[in-house]
Amino acid sequence: MAAQIFDIAIIGGGPAGLSAALTGRIRNKEIALFEHLDFSQKLQKAHIVDNYPGLPQVTGKGLVQQMAAHAQAHQPTIIKEKVLNIYPGEKFTILTPAATYEARAVILATGVVATVLFAGERDFLGRGVSYCATCDGMFYKDKNVAVIAYTAEGEHEAKFLGELCRQVYYLPQYKGELPPFRDNVKIVADKPRAIKGDSQVEQLATDKGELKVDGVFILRQSDPVENVLAGLELDGEVIKVNRDMSTNIPGVFAAGDCTGKPWQIAKAVGEGLVAVLSAIGYLETKAKQA
Ligand SMILES: Cc1cc2nc3c(=O)[nH]c(=O)nc-3n(C[C@H](O)[C@H](O)[C@H](O)COP(=O)(O)OP(=O)(O)OC[C@H]3O[C@@H](n4cnc5c(N)ncnc54)[C@H](O)[C@@H]3O)c2cc1C
Repeated sequence: MAAQIFDIAIIGGGPAGLSAALTGRIRNKEIALFEHLDFSQKLQKAHIVDNYPGLPQVTGKGLVQQMAAHAQAHQPTIIKEKVLNIYPGEKFTILTPAATYEARAVILATGVVATVLFAGERDFLGRGVSYCATCDGMFYKDKNVAVIAYTAEGEHEAKFLGELCRQVYYLPQYKGELPPFRDNVKIVADKPRAIKGDSQVEQLATDKGELKVDGVFILRQSDPVENVLAGLELDGEVIKVNRDMSTNIPGVFAAGDCTGKPWQIAKAVGEGLVAVLSAIGYLETKAKQA
């Protein structure tokens, strides 16, 4: 059976992505909503939100839950996987650690990357720096690696790498109790600073010293978006968009924090709506040309 081709793939299930998914389904489009964590962990941290019209004094968690339930009631296909790469073509090919998907248009709603990149991170991408243990772990069989994790998702990656690698240094950059690991997974409480090497990664420099490693896996809530989709034009650190939320790549739209300030829910929701309507317009124009 041929794999389903979605009309629109939405990457990120925060307020922007959920808003886009809701209106996309109301407009009867086949929507894939990719969300690898639990619908905007960021907004869930907001103790009280009091600037979202119509819902005074709501908790961030409550607001996300209502938004997610509302969108899900219209049955977009929710795919609980992290999008690693998007390849434009006649259709967009979307890669996750588990599978490959296809869509005719894409909306990026990945939120803001809260951390600045480490020195050397961009230079060593594909030469020792990776964002996915499932994809690249085998390259480090019997070698030493570091895992820098901003979410508990990193624990699974560290466990998996522990089965493959000689030594794993796990650097959790979040609070919370850690599960037991194998003996070859060492918890390191340092703050990572820079990734160093010659042609390949050789060291991870931290605030307390240096770890000799062959690879560094970095697990953030959102990866640098230009690594997910090559050729995407940025405006500083954020995605450059036009008034209709289109980007420089035909068929790719963006919405929410990933397009810049103000980092606010109402702006994210509004941009999600504009992005999905523009994506639908793009699909209709393409269909007429075919
Ligand atoms: C503590 C705190 C309090 C706040 N209080 C307020 C407030 O009172 N009022 C207000 O207006 N705003 C507030 N904000 C800001 C608000 O949370 C953001 O502006 C809003 O969540 C942005 O929505 P978004 O959809 O653009 O991005 P996000 O909410 O960040 O959602 C992006 C989603 O994309 C997912 N994702 C990222 N990359 C991928 C990938 N490759 N594959 C699959 N999924 C991916 C992430 O898991 C995430 O769920 C607050 C933020 C914080 C942290």
